[in-house]
Amino acid sequence: MEKLLSDAAERGSRYVTEIARRRVAPRPEDVAKLEGLGGALPEEPSDPAAVIALLDDLGSPATMASTSGRYFGFVTGGALPVTLAANWLAGAWDQNAGLHATSPVGAKIEEIAARWLCEIFGLPGTCGVGFTTGATMANFACLAAARHALLKRAGWNAEDDGLFGAPPLTVVVGAEVHVSVLKVLSMLGLGRARVTTVPTDEQGRMQPTHLPTLNDRTIVCLQAGNVNTGAFDPATEICARADQAGAWVHVDGAFGLWAAAAPHRSYLTKGVSEADSWATDGHKWLSVPYDCGVAFVRDAEYLRNAMIVSAAYLHTGNEREPAHYSPEASRRARAVEVWAAIRSLGRSGLAELIERDCRLAKRFAESLRRCGFEVLNDVVLNQVLVSFGDPETTRRVIADVQSEGTCWCGGTEWHGRMAMRISVSSWATTEEDVDASVAAIARIAKRTSASHSVG
Ligand SMILES: *Cc1c(COP(=O)(O)O)cnc(C)c1O
Repeated sequence: MEKLLSDAAERGSRYVTEIARRRVAPRPEDVAKLEGLGGALPEEPSDPAAVIALLDDLGSPATMASTSGRYFGFVTGGALPVTLAANWLAGAWDQNAGLHATSPVGAKIEEIAARWLCEIFGLPGTCGVGFTTGATMANFACLAAARHALLKRAGWNAEDDGLFGAPPLTVVVGAEVHVSVLKVLSMLGLGRARVTTVPTDEQGRMQPTHLPTLNDRTIVCLQAGNVNTGAFDPATEICARADQAGAWVHVDGAFGLWAAAAPHRSYLTKGVSEADSWATDGHKWLSVPYDCGVAFVRDAEYLRNAMIVSAAYLHTGNEREPAHYSPEASRRARAVEVWAAIRSLGRSGLAELIERDCRLAKRFAESLRRCGFEVLNDVVLNQVLVSFGDPETTRRVIADVQSEGTCWCGGTEWHGRMAMRISVSSWATTEEDVDASVAAIARIAKRTSASHSVG
């Protein structure tokens, strides 16, 4: 057994140390070889060492090198070495972190990590905190708490009686709302098409002058960090209006909430702490391995009442039960890596990680502008949108950059324009990575536009 585990650790270490030198997208022929993992359902046992060897030999070359410093797709952080190491150890523990009884260490580490996170984000230490698979489920837990709270005030028990016949709630979102919030509204019976949509400005920020009249049956969903531009909805003004009306404000801060940890970016999160609930991701900017999201609710009882389970055999003592604050029951101890990241980085290390990525995003934007390309957004955080001309050219540049392999950037449509979307969210990205990526993008764009105009 020891040999099996140390062999796997060795393979993992080799992967991590070599990934910076590999092309970012896997070669198509390596992806094709994944067929070798399939075949008929195995009838007989096989040697565990051979299973791990097969997984490494065929699986590792076919990964997307999203932990390398030159992956700028979606908004994706890579695991810090210390969080990966903590993940390996926690994997060995194999704790069921749903209950205090099944994992005292999982439960305790959640409490510690929750308190540290509240301090980092400037949220009340009395918040209810739930650890989830990602920001989607963190949004779910928060909005379930909102649903509970507003309907309870209206004399209705949503958890017991469902929504048929319940007093209607209105959900207000910005025109640039993240799709995960809409998905969550569909799962909560609040309806993704039943929302009131507030127009956004040229950076994708909600325009508070267009806010509808709010009341105590309204949930307003703000965004801290637009997935295209990185822009923040104006929280101060909207929270003040919601507060007067008795409305609930929820903040989707999957990656943007981390700006609060960085002295030169925290101005962006002004007013955000006045909300009622907040969702964020650990597996984006905090650089912990998948999967990890966190839900915060100002009044812990609302989150607890929305998530609690009871059964005689689940009878619990006075401890905080992790499963009472998140949708899942049995689950991994995902706060362990959050704890390791914060314990290792400290406040200053975390601030430097966020600031560095933001500086590198600016460097990206300035360098691409100098090459003659158009940057479409104000680069306030870590997101850069670039056009290479007409939509077809931009589309081809993105595809060619992805297949060339120096770096990986995705595409998006921004206010009617096709754009390359560059997200600098990794602890591993350096100035050299940005410069090498800009050089590759510029080279490819020149070649692509030339061949496009000729052919
Ligand atoms: C990534 C993201 C989400 C969804 O998070 P998952 O971790 O993928 O569930 C929600 N909102 C925003 C703004 C995001 O960037």
